[in-house]
Amino acid sequence: MSSICPYCNKKVFFAERQFYKGKDYHMICHGLLIKEEQKSAPKVFAIHEQIFCNPEENSKHSYPLASKEPVRPTNCYSCKTPVKPDANFCVKCGTKVVI
Ligand SMILES: [Zn+2]
Ligand SMILES: [Zn+2]
Repeated sequence: MSSICPYCNKKVFFAERQFYKGKDYHMICHGLLIKEEQKSAPKVFAIHEQIFCNPEENSKHSYPLASKEPVRPTNCYSCKTPVKPDANFCVKCGTKVVI
């Protein structure tokens, strides 16, 4: 049984097939496909690098999770209602404010 390569729409023979994402490709077509996918991927990696590899940029976007100090939540986890600094429970739904 031979299948059709989705990349070039030609028959793939057993000896030259490369199974990828549920389809049979020619080994050459598979290689080209991988290259194309990698070409479109670096944009995503570049954004991640900016966020995680640049300390200055990180300090501009200070997220509670990124901080080393435990940060008291300002909103209820459950209903997102603002919680007073001295309150231990959410006034709206009664969820405990956990630090
Ligand atoms: Zn092919
Ligand atoms: Zn609440």
